[in-house]
Amino acid sequence: MSSQKSRRNFFKTSAAFAALGIYGNSFGLSLSNPYPGKMEKWNKIKGGKIKLRFKPYELQLKHAFTLASSSRTTTPVMLTEIEFEGNIGYGEASMPPYLGESHQTATKFLNQVKLDRFSDPFRMEEILEYVDALAPGNPAAKASIDIALHDLVGKLMNQPWHRIWGFSKENTPNTSFTIGIDDKEVVQKKVKEAGPMKILKIKLGRGNDREMINWVRSVTDVSLCVDVNQGWKDKHMALDLIHWLNDQGVIFVEQPMPKEQLDDLAWLTGESPLPVVADESVQRLKDIMELHGVYSGINVKLMKSTGMREAFKMINVAKALGMKILMGCMTETSCGVSAAAQLSPVTEWADLDGNLLISNDPFTGMKVIDGKVTLNDLPGIGISQNL
Ligand code: MG
Repeated sequence: MSSQKSRRNFFKTSAAFAALGIYGNSFGLSLSNPYPGKMEKWNKIKGGKIKLRFKPYELQLKHAFTLASSSRTTTPVMLTEIEFEGNIGYGEASMPPYLGESHQTATKFLNQVKLDRFSDPFRMEEILEYVDALAPGNPAAKASIDIALHDLVGKLMNQPWHRIWGFSKENTPNTSFTIGIDDKEVVQKKVKEAGPMKILKIKLGRGNDREMINWVRSVTDVSLCVDVNQGWKDKHMALDLIHWLNDQGVIFVEQPMPKEQLDDLAWLTGESPLPVVADESVQRLKDIMELHGVYSGINVKLMKSTGMREAFKMINVAKALGMKILMGCMTETSCGVSAAAQLSPVTEWADLDGNLLISNDPFTGMKVIDGKVTLNDLPGIGISQNL
């Protein structure tokens, strides 16, 4: 990001906070921390050789984000740093409110993490098993440790994770760009703004599915995928719609029905001309076995999986079961998205547009070039801070 643009975004962010009356006269805050009051400082956890810091941050969304069940204009995240012998790894927890984590829950969880009991950051399995066992749930907070640790260890090895894993960075997929549910003018404006994107993800499930697709199709002929966010309740109606969507150039359908309706979903996947991908149904590694035969693929997100280490395992298990993989994300900074992108050379599809949806990204990392996820050669997760 150019410094001019950084400044513009900073003032935009400042104005947004000032409008909310929570900024006061604190114009001395740095760009990477436009968060009010006492939370602006890093929360430092005293440690030995491996030190953890974290601070809350609020993502400003360019457009209101509408799902089948909610709508919002900001997303709370927690930014983390793990330091070892002068090297710093960066991490992030993105916490859309409907998933149950928050600045408060992440603060509580991260305050329990004592990395000073370890002296070697390369012992990632041991460290992350310890973190996972501290409390149930908290997948995004756990991911913020996992991502920072991966970034740190990659930097210590002076290699990006896609190379450490042995992936070919040319094999990254195109990413979809998400178009939320809205009225016709907004939908068509967003589609036009999506410019060089090769795949658009259209959110459905609010009862105007054919209308949404027709609006999109009247302004673009790129491939589409659809995310229903559990919005269809009847399997026969769902199958009719999927046949129609197939004729409209849709390439897969994500979470068409409620996650509890496993029998209906298995029937639908068996009958569907398009791959059916699990999102809300799948969180972590342990969930995959039950979904074999129910879905054709899974949407892996670091904020569900507790980070890169378990996501890597999930991808391997899903592949062994013949399931396809969508590498996804929440609305996140370039930190979380670049971490996820390291895995994307071995996934069929990517939905890594989370950083493109925000106006105050504190990092630069993975780029989307002509619609394709494009990795750099920086070590770790491949990011630098915007100053
Ligand atoms: Mg989804």
